[in-house]
Amino acid sequence: MSVDNEEAAEIINNLRNERDTLLEKIRSLMIRLEHAERRQQNSSLMMLYDEVTGLPNHHKMDRDIGSMLWDFFKLPKPPKISVLLIKLDENFNHVRQAFNPDVFNNILSTLAERLKLMLDTRGLLYHPRLDEFAVFIFDSISDHDLAGLAYDIRDNISGTIDNQVYRVKVGCNIGIASFPEDGLNKRMLLSSADIALSYAVGRGADVVFFSEDMRQKVIGNLEMQNDLLSAIEVKTLFELSENFTLYFQPIITVDNIVEDGINCEDFKAEVLIRWKDPNRGSVLPRNLIEVAEETGLILPIGRWLLKASMMKLSEWRREYFNLKLSINISPRQFFNRGFTEELRVILNETGVRADDIYLEITESCLFNDQDYASEEIKKLSDMGFKITLDDFGTGYSSLGYLNKFKTDTVKIDKIFIEGLSEEGKKRELIKSIVKIGHELDLDVVFEGIEELEQLKEAYSLGCRTFQGYFFSRPLPVEEFEQFMNGCKENYIAFPD
Ligand code: C2E
Ligand code: CA
Ligand code: CA
Repeated sequence: MSVDNEEAAEIINNLRNERDTLLEKIRSLMIRLEHAERRQQNSSLMMLYDEVTGLPNHHKMDRDIGSMLWDFFKLPKPPKISVLLIKLDENFNHVRQAFNPDVFNNILSTLAERLKLMLDTRGLLYHPRLDEFAVFIFDSISDHDLAGLAYDIRDNISGTIDNQVYRVKVGCNIGIASFPEDGLNKRMLLSSADIALSYAVGRGADVVFFSEDMRQKVIGNLEMQNDLLSAIEVKTLFELSENFTLYFQPIITVDNIVEDGINCEDFKAEVLIRWKDPNRGSVLPRNLIEVAEETGLILPIGRWLLKASMMKLSEWRREYFNLKLSINISPRQFFNRGFTEELRVILNETGVRADDIYLEITESCLFNDQDYASEEIKKLSDMGFKITLDDFGTGYSSLGYLNKFKTDTVKIDKIFIEGLSEEGKKRELIKSIVKIGHELDLDVVFEGIEELEQLKEAYSLGCRTFQGYFFSRPLPVEEFEQFMNGCKENYIAFPD
């Protein structure tokens, strides 16, 4: 069937309208949820604002910039959006070391107040890191005016903070990048601003605008670092198993709940990394993963973890023949071009079947580059892997993702736990996630279950798969084996 241009235009128009209506619905649901959260001042929202300055933090910044670009990108002539990243200088660190936390917080708040006051409605202010502020400007202002604004910011920050007890002066460097010319998506735009900022810091310049040749230089450096890393990789892989260890946390699919226990239908385990560092002691995985992501070390660590987990699963196959593993995949791993090939090799080496492995990917990871992500997920599914959407409900336009990305499982984040027991927006959202999940044939997992009451509530809303301290904390290998041996009859007794 052939359609003429006019018909094609109409079809496209209708499809666009349909998509926009859907997007609008999802967005208004998210906004309503956010408003409800704001009223309740609950922990999930606290996580979006810095406690000391009251400013939105990096999670909120990530969300906002993502959604704004998404909106503006659809316009025929998108306006210019500029990002100014402001890094406080060494003096700020000295202040931190020299003063007690109350005084330090006071100084930080003063700097934030100055910025709020001077910016007023000219831009949105964020506090993404302890020593960094960020400003988004939507006014399509010229580079000349942007530079003027940046110098104003510098002057406001570096004015002496003076009271009877102390007298302090903090300086800053500023990196600037603008959408669309310096980056068409969130990742590119923020990375351009970051590159401009590191140039400013490196050269002791107050204000630096991003330019493409800076990126080329950074890429050159990174490639060199990667070469170095792969050169030491053999050694690192060996050392990794001495430094890192795997913990396993049970994920239980419940058949039914009886008076004194639970009949189980299925067992999985989430693999969680632990670092045995002789100097730092036990490092929290979130910090470890963050650093590993930043340095690129996540690639060898992730590869080791995948291989070590799958080797363990193949050892366990005879004993626990139904057990499946759920493995966290970090954004950098997921977006690494060799990822699928790497998995293929590990499957061959360990003899594990792909459909016994769930790959956990967070929705914020998918937001970065949706087309690539969608293709990659399809490739992994075609190889047989199961895909879990992790930390669900903490990112932007979550419900839309259920349809867009072909996942098998969705994990409702633990921030929803407190919404389980009381009637309200969170509970309604949990219900709709479960409903949509089931309609799309997805397994819905509730994580962070700590008490029997929470388990029963989530069960009554239609969830059947659970993870949390109520069943077990993450366990080292031997203790996990004991746990599994205790479940051989597919029954778990409630603690007395
Ligand atoms: P996650 O993927 O959301 O993992 C679940 C986290 O919740 C784990 O923290 C687990 O110990 C904790 N948890 C489980 N049940 C409960 C509960 O009932 N209550 C509470 N309050 N917490 C519970 P953990 O092990 O500290 O890991 C934190 C995060 O670090 C993980 O969050 C994941 O994002 C990351 N991570 C851990 N291991 C790996 C890994 O091997 N690779 C990657 N890429 N990330 C990892
Ligand atoms: Ca996870
Ligand atoms: Ca999670």
